[in-house]
Amino acid sequence: MKALVFDKQLTFRNDIPQPEVPPGEALIKVLMAGVCNTDIEITKGYMGFHGIPGHEFVGIVEEVNDADQGLLGKRVVGEINCACLKSSCEYCKQDLGRHCPGRTTLGIFRRDGCLAEYITLPIVNLVEVPEHIPTSVATLTEPLAAGFEILEQVDIKPDDEVLIVGDGKLGLLINHALSTSNANITHVGKHAGKLKLIEGLGGKTQVLDSSADFLQKQFDVVVEATGSITGFRFSVQHTKPRGILVLKSTLASDQSIDLSPVVINEITVVGSRCGLFQQAVDYLATGVDLEPLITAVYPAGQAMKAFEHAKTKGSLKVLIEFAKQ
Ligand SMILES: [Zn+2]
Ligand SMILES: [Zn+2]
Repeated sequence: MKALVFDKQLTFRNDIPQPEVPPGEALIKVLMAGVCNTDIEITKGYMGFHGIPGHEFVGIVEEVNDADQGLLGKRVVGEINCACLKSSCEYCKQDLGRHCPGRTTLGIFRRDGCLAEYITLPIVNLVEVPEHIPTSVATLTEPLAAGFEILEQVDIKPDDEVLIVGDGKLGLLINHALSTSNANITHVGKHAGKLKLIEGLGGKTQVLDSSADFLQKQFDVVVEATGSITGFRFSVQHTKPRGILVLKSTLASDQSIDLSPVVINEITVVGSRCGLFQQAVDYLATGVDLEPLITAVYPAGQAMKAFEHAKTKGSLKVLIEFAKQ
């Protein structure tokens, strides 16, 4: 099968064997897959991963190695953490397979990913995609679910003042998720064009540097989604005393960070990563139009080009089409 493979460098190959289907798992024919910043980080050495990257996909279930064949032939998305599910596992017992110490993670840790024609995933990870959601839009389920994860971790009240910092694809999808909370949302970023894409959601948007007034304000909840040290510092500064700071970007930097404002202002810091898919799929099913967040769709043969495009500044989600439905 065709696949992008990372082994010291990223290459496109068409001689990769189709994966065997372990018990309890399904063979999925990938229709479309998204290139994520995490995939780009992997090609720089993140997680020490070697193999097929990719964890955002929509596919068709072609084979099920289980008595329950219910998902056979269905169009699905899949949660990326594959837990041990043992009754002796402290995390799996609490339905927190995302933190199972024995887990593998699609295209990130000990499991080949979805920038390929076929993948396997545990059946319990799969969520069927309602027919009226376009395949391209459904590939955004994974990063959108990461936005909904915030609502699972933090009790955002209807009148809370919430600030989202960063207008990359994750930041924009976080706005979609938090817009379901009725809080007062302000979203800041550096790109007027990107902030425009979320204007219809009801919150305020503001391009940074344009308003000194605004820069004095502090918020009940601040969500950092810039992936930069300056974004982190800005977020700390704009969190109220006793407020909550949610960190969404896996910021691996050796620059020093001054945490004294966190102590002085008694800020609660919440690390936040992957979320559950069903809520994200239900949100997409309401008919919300996320097409504007998709910058380009490339055929599988141009997967390398797609990867390069995803790296360019200003691009939002770049998709690779491995098969038509
Ligand atoms: Zn991702
Ligand atoms: Zn476990």
